[in-house]
Amino acid sequence: MEKECPRVEVLMYLDGELDGEEKEDIENHLKECETCKEHKEFAEALSVIMPTILEPPKEDCPSSLILSLYANECLDKETKRNVDAHILYCDECFKELLVFEKIEEELRSEGRFKEE
Ligand SMILES: [Zn+2]
Ligand SMILES: [Zn+2]
Repeated sequence: MEKECPRVEVLMYLDGELDGEEKEDIENHLKECETCKEHKEFAEALSVIMPTILEPPKEDCPSSLILSLYANECLDKETKRNVDAHILYCDECFKELLVFEKIEEELRSEGRFKEE
């Protein structure tokens, strides 16, 4: 099995939050990991549609990016569980999540992400 991918770091990389060694690590990983490359492209495509996606979350809500990853089933187990719990009581995030699920569907049907 491949080892765990640095999903969150990839987003931080996109957001320009990494530098030095961390940034290099991600760049190297992106070169050899198809999954993360797709993941990065997905996040990039989303950030074009929704520029606010790279903004920091408000209060204790998960960030838009986290929600989009959740919709894309790209979260690690623990983060996913946190989001699961959060959307149970946070209507706002739940609605946002629905939007992401829709966007993801549209992106896929546009064929931006090739599927086997
Ligand atoms: Zn990876
Ligand atoms: Zn929330």
